[in-house]
Amino acid sequence: MTFLAEPVCPDQVVPRANELDVVIIGAGFSGLGVAALLDRAGIRSFRILEEASDLGGVWRDNTYPGCACDIPSPLYSFSFDQKANWTRLFAPQPEILAYLHDVARRRGLTDRTRFGTRVARASWDSADARWEVETESGERYRARFLISAVGALHHPVVPDLPGVFAGPAFHSANWDHSVDLQGKRVAVIGTGASAIQFVPAIVDQVAELAVFQRTAPWIMPKLDRPMSTAWFPPHRWYVRRRLFWIHENRAAGFVQDPVRMAQTARYARGHLNRQVSDADLRARLTPDYTVGCKRLLISNDWYPALTRPHVSVHTGDVRSIGPDGVVAADGTVVPADVLIYGTGFDAHNNVTRMAITGRAGVRLKDAWSQGMSAYLGTTVAGFPNMFVMAGPNTGLGHNSQIVMIEAQARHIVDCVKRVWRSRARSIEVTAEAQLRFNEWVQDRMAHTVWESGGCRSWYQDPRTGRNTLLWPDTTVEFLRRTRRIRRLDFVLS
Ligand code: NAP
Repeated sequence: MTFLAEPVCPDQVVPRANELDVVIIGAGFSGLGVAALLDRAGIRSFRILEEASDLGGVWRDNTYPGCACDIPSPLYSFSFDQKANWTRLFAPQPEILAYLHDVARRRGLTDRTRFGTRVARASWDSADARWEVETESGERYRARFLISAVGALHHPVVPDLPGVFAGPAFHSANWDHSVDLQGKRVAVIGTGASAIQFVPAIVDQVAELAVFQRTAPWIMPKLDRPMSTAWFPPHRWYVRRRLFWIHENRAAGFVQDPVRMAQTARYARGHLNRQVSDADLRARLTPDYTVGCKRLLISNDWYPALTRPHVSVHTGDVRSIGPDGVVAADGTVVPADVLIYGTGFDAHNNVTRMAITGRAGVRLKDAWSQGMSAYLGTTVAGFPNMFVMAGPNTGLGHNSQIVMIEAQARHIVDCVKRVWRSRARSIEVTAEAQLRFNEWVQDRMAHTVWESGGCRSWYQDPRTGRNTLLWPDTTVEFLRRTRRIRRLDFVLS
């Protein structure tokens, strides 16, 4: 990858107030990553607009006890900003957030972020070839390029169950640290990636813990360990590449031949058998779908937490919520002082929460009324000079999301440079290229474990049942496809 020493935008040096080359929405991994690469490419007239008062995205929001990454940190970080001294192989949330702060500070991105600024709408002005961006407080920006980096796991979902709980209740992504759990009866709804981290972290404090499991997750051992040595760059690259290929080798079972997941299932079942001796509990914790269909989880302390005498596991749908407890599927009323939702996120409507209007008045909300769709998960026909990060079909089930984010960021920077180099005003993917790409995506998707594994997951759009979130191939294939712009797939005007 080469970066230009000279600015590629001829008139970018002295931008008028709020007149920019690029507006980036969101200061999480995606927003900071693309900002860093724009900066390195000499494209410096950009602003990140961030609705919160701090950067970090999900790593700022999720402060629940036990929050940590389930991808090894040497791989869950930017290749261009590798950290020499992670404390653990799977770093805890505060360390990842500190890493992002450090990247932003060293690269001068914090100063170019406007916090407390929520984008309400953005419209493409064809005459001027500019995006007009308006924030909820009425601030206006004009920019040649618009990058949505609002994240996929940004809007927590609290299920609409009948009844109202009288005590403290909160979602794992909005953990209420003012609530003292010591000696309390706590009910937890959900057994996904978040719950399996916070339940073991609180189990020692609480008097009673009731876990409501609708679908049993597959759990693998977590091969975590301390990492105290400061690594020099060649060693860091070696470890990163090695971890990348270890994860990449798992892709085949997810995206090509789910039958290959049988070995993973045996490993996970062995983990369950070793950690849970009670046959009845073990049966209730055994998943009934192909491993990998829902996110494959890793934990050494989830099952032991559930075997503790003061912990109960209730399976099936939650029937309702009462003022002082939760009613389980079998009608049992489980009393609780505190209710915690580990019930996940709405990943399908993040970008369209903003009113985005493209060429000829087309609204993104209408273009995506049957679910998200983009070319390479990044560009959308009818929306010139607009890019979406961590949007449609760019999520991974088997490798580090940061690798995908970086590939998208490089592709976006290439598109921006292409516009300026060719003295064009805009770049837009053709409708044919987008359609062809999405037909390929859904065709590939049919071969994945997410389709054939016999589960319902949050990867599927509730409107259509189509998986519009995950990339249905290897990470290497995404890197290959985003490496070079296919000129015929775009119109430069
Ligand atoms: P999730 O995986 O979507 O899990 C939500 C849980 O809530 C599921 O067990 C779900 O059951 C249950 N649930 C939802 N609605 C329910 C209802 N009405 N009644 C009963 N149960 C209900 O959410 P999450 O655990 O927050 O994780 C979301 C994603 O965040 C993960 O898949 C992962 O990508 C990411 N994450 C990553 C890390 C990391 O270490 N990198 C850590 C945490 C989260 P069903 O399975 O039956 O739907």
